[in-house]
Amino acid sequence: MNDVSRETSAPDVSRETGFSVRTAGELADLGPGFDDDQTPLAAAAHQTVFYRQGIQRQPVARPAATRVFVVANQKGGVGKTTSTVNIAAALTELGQRVLVVDLDPQGNASTALNVDHRQGTPGTYEVLVDGMAIADVIKSCPDCEGLDVVPATIDLAGAEIELVSVVAREGRLKKAILAHPQVGTATTAGEGRYDYVLIDCPPSLGLLTLNALVAGAEMMIPIQAEYYALEGLGQLLSTVDMVRAHLNPDLAVSTIVLTMYDARTRLAAGVAQEVREHFGDQVLKTAIPRSVRVSEAPSYGQTVMTYDPGSPGALSYLEAAREIATRGSLS
Ligand code: ADP
Ligand code: MG
Repeated sequence: MNDVSRETSAPDVSRETGFSVRTAGELADLGPGFDDDQTPLAAAAHQTVFYRQGIQRQPVARPAATRVFVVANQKGGVGKTTSTVNIAAALTELGQRVLVVDLDPQGNASTALNVDHRQGTPGTYEVLVDGMAIADVIKSCPDCEGLDVVPATIDLAGAEIELVSVVAREGRLKKAILAHPQVGTATTAGEGRYDYVLIDCPPSLGLLTLNALVAGAEMMIPIQAEYYALEGLGQLLSTVDMVRAHLNPDLAVSTIVLTMYDARTRLAAGVAQEVREHFGDQVLKTAIPRSVRVSEAPSYGQTVMTYDPGSPGALSYLEAAREIATRGSLS
């Protein structure tokens, strides 16, 4: 853990500040797990034991009403899609019913969840522009029980412009989500209700992201534990303030997740510290480690939760999902 050979020329950051994030290695403390310094074989064996025991896969209580999360950060490549699909899959392992709305024309979340999103497939575009019902475009994720997806096709790229002339253009997604019969409380939506709706935003602050910010009450911001991590966040937060003032007073930044965390660098610890100073308890204790297994899962049409369930990436996403589910809404 103290190996600093991979240090970059980051500013000197004190490690004696008392703040630490829970890294994959530290998850070992939660059970007979693994640590980063083991040989690969020993680590693999430990992980298998840890996984088989299923300690972390105990179901958690369902929320009283559907919680709608906006996963946004206008910076690309920070882990929005990866966090959306893996937290969604992890939540289903904890007994929750989840809907992922793919709001990025690139359709990466649809790919990772293995649902058809070829051009012409009805999805988010039809919901936003044509007013189609979400129930009519939903697809089930084949590998994950309890996980549904509103797919995004490349057509969605046009929605950003086409929506400009549409009446109440910022409220289209909200209206569609609220109209879904499985969104609401036990009384209004029954036992088959969604517990979580996660909206995966594109890397911009245009009308698509605005629709998400109006539709959700909670916002999750993935932050890559890298230099310049906080750059651009000011702009994001002032957009949130604007939305809160004029369009959605319920919106709260409830969750910050640190992604691609490399516990061996002081840089990552420094970024974590800075993010924590900024956002306090909104930052999840569990940081997601940089892991090849996480990045290769989508090419198999899977989340890391099914692709390699015992890997540090999967266990970290499971723990992050548990934090989200057990601490409830902060608002
Ligand atoms: P965004 O949706 O914010 O653009 P992505 O989730 O697509 O970001 O992630 C960007 C890239 O980083 C992808 O290639 C993804 O596979 C990779 N990536 C994300 N999280 C991790 C991780 N924990 N470990 C390794 N690679 C990751
Ligand atoms: Mg993305």
